[in-house]
Amino acid sequence: MLYRRYNEYIKQKYNARIKKICINGGFTCPNRDGTCGFGGCIFCGEKGAGDHIDVSRSIKDHVNRYLLYTRRVDGFIAYFQSFTNTHAPVDVLKERYDSALFDKRIVALAVATRPDCINEDVCRLLHSYKSRADVWVELGLQTSNDNTAKLINRGYDSAVFSQACSLLKKYDIPIVVHIMIGLPNENDEDIKNTVEFINSFDIHGIKIHSVYVMKDTKLEKMYLNGEYAPLDMNSYTDSVVYVLTHISPDVVVHRLTGDCPSDKLTAPVWNLKKEEIIAQITRKMEQLGLYQGCFYKI
Ligand code: SF4
Repeated sequence: MLYRRYNEYIKQKYNARIKKICINGGFTCPNRDGTCGFGGCIFCGEKGAGDHIDVSRSIKDHVNRYLLYTRRVDGFIAYFQSFTNTHAPVDVLKERYDSALFDKRIVALAVATRPDCINEDVCRLLHSYKSRADVWVELGLQTSNDNTAKLINRGYDSAVFSQACSLLKKYDIPIVVHIMIGLPNENDEDIKNTVEFINSFDIHGIKIHSVYVMKDTKLEKMYLNGEYAPLDMNSYTDSVVYVLTHISPDVVVHRLTGDCPSDKLTAPVWNLKKEEIIAQITRKMEQLGLYQGCFYKI
């Protein structure tokens, strides 16, 4: 096994065919509404990572359509994806999560959020769902470098990520961390530091994103002004191989690249070739006899 693929992990865990339902829970982001900042992270599009999600229906109707019309699937994961899905009072969170978890075929609740929107009340609420579904939280870290964090307008420093991990661990809620490769001013040393940083927590899963320039973002302005140049595909896949070989073999790998809708992408064009990117990563690992965690040090 080259790396611990999410699809295989899910297949083994449930011994069934499970599909993810991506949900826009109607939340915003503290980095956009003024709670911690305005304008959002420089790479973030207007829909906050959920460009493909149908928002014309209520959460319940949206989920119900999947239950009614998806064939050859035994269960579903309700994935609150867009923006910051713990950025609201807990009674509002409960109402929205409940709207998705109304059927026994929903086997898991996955919640994407920011570390600065994790607190005791949120953890208690998430923990309360564990008797009826698996629960995990996806935390956007992107990098452990606080200078880069300022540059990309992330709105919190990395110590906040550590605190969120401690709280989630206290409530036994698995963490999937998101990191990005190709951030402005970052180099191999930053990737190495980010990997060391995430290895110091009990991380259950990882999503590795390529930085791409999306239309109408601050990053696009930087790109057009010559202040930012995306990585080439070969450098990107080299970095992914570094990450995979230096993380724990137990970590579930949910994602190996970013996914920008073609009509929203400014650069780099290679970002659209998802299969080719994954094939290149696989080829490099096979040729060098590498596998996930082969350089991992506890
Ligand atoms: S925290 Fe997430 S949703 Fe908010 S601006 Fe940054 S990338 Fe977008």
